[in-house]
Amino acid sequence: MRWFVSGRDLTLSRIAYVNGQYLPHSAASIHVEDRGYQFSDAVYEVIMFVAGSPLDMEPHLDRLDNSLAELAIIQPMVRSALRRVIMEVVRRNRLQNGIVYLQVSRGVAPRDHAFPSVNVDPALVMTAKRLDFAKIRDLQNRGVGVKTVPEIRWRRPDIKSVSLLGNVLAKESAKIDGAYEAWFIDQAGLVTEGTSTNAWIVTSDDTLITRQLDQAILPGITRAVLFSVAAELALKVKEQAFSIKDVLSAKEAFLTSSTNFVMPVISIDGSPIGRCEPGDVSKKLVDAYWRYVELTTADNAR
Ligand code: PMP
Repeated sequence: MRWFVSGRDLTLSRIAYVNGQYLPHSAASIHVEDRGYQFSDAVYEVIMFVAGSPLDMEPHLDRLDNSLAELAIIQPMVRSALRRVIMEVVRRNRLQNGIVYLQVSRGVAPRDHAFPSVNVDPALVMTAKRLDFAKIRDLQNRGVGVKTVPEIRWRRPDIKSVSLLGNVLAKESAKIDGAYEAWFIDQAGLVTEGTSTNAWIVTSDDTLITRQLDQAILPGITRAVLFSVAAELALKVKEQAFSIKDVLSAKEAFLTSSTNFVMPVISIDGSPIGRCEPGDVSKKLVDAYWRYVELTTADNAR
């Protein structure tokens, strides 16, 4: 059956979940006094789907629990119900390859910086977006450039809050320069992470280096999975902060995230890294990660 509103075929439109309702995007909205909207008093997750199956859904939902706990936001629903809503968003959007975006705000209350004195229900919103894996593979084959920018974000990027203005400005600045991603540089001159990715280098003895988990970076799920992928390839991983100088003298560099998997980085601020092409170690990791993705999502489908 098809549904038409003002001549638009709603059966084809993207469907969002908003506080218990599945709605076409054009009809999906949140309250003007939602605290996520007014104070960025909200957290989020992005879960990748491959052939309709979730990739690492549980670690993402664990991280969501942590973010909510850090900000003392009530869980909108129990894990099993949350999983069901996520899968229903996937079904209604006929999502094969792409992401589900999930956001939980503290809820709606008259504007006041302090938490509402009476308990309000958290607001839960989900959307789905298709991604073209051919485009990701193409970029992985070519490698990308990054631009460095000063670390201007708030001091708790380990919490996955929607306070992303620093990330937004950095990404825009990278885009203007034709770079794919921006890497933040802290006051000690060390790379923290990208605007939506974790940062890595490969040393001359094929050791992978990524910043230690501290309050300066998001504990990436892809970052965590890569530790085991690297171990399978007998590659050593060291958790240590590195500088722009370290990047320039590195053999290779790459970034990781749920939507990029492993993405080779071939230049920084316009200067080449290594031979300015995806290196052997990065290529091995790209391939091994795809194998991991295909294996784990195939497991889920069964
Ligand atoms: N850092 C930041 C700031 C991010 O937004 C993301 C994307 N969620 C990441 C790192 C990578 O995390 P993940 O591997 O869990 O996608």
